[in-house]
Amino acid sequence: MIMGYRRRLIRKTLQKRIAKERIRHLLEQARTVFSEDPELSRRYIQRVEALRKRFNIRRTPEMKRAYCKRCYTLWIPGRTLTVRYDKRNRFVLYICDRCGKVYKFAYK
Ligand SMILES: [Zn+2]
Repeated sequence: MIMGYRRRLIRKTLQKRIAKERIRHLLEQARTVFSEDPELSRRYIQRVEALRKRFNIRRTPEMKRAYCKRCYTLWIPGRTLTVRYDKRNRFVLYICDRCGKVYKFAYK
């Protein structure tokens, strides 16, 4: 049925919008609690990743540089993150200090 399909689509879009809003809020909370309770912060980010997968939400460029998607650690340069620039090859390496995962980003 066309109506049923459309209604489902609208509901899905709405759920996705709510999920995005929750992700934004969870990231804020993860930042707020990080210095007090890094484990709690990690759980918030774990929830972000779960929501993202469930609703098929892509990470924004900002999110890609905000936390480690392997160990859910919030990145704070000099504390939980090492940043290395490779100017010749024009990329930046983000190295998670907790799990050691290396992320490569294009250099601006
Ligand atoms: Zn990590």
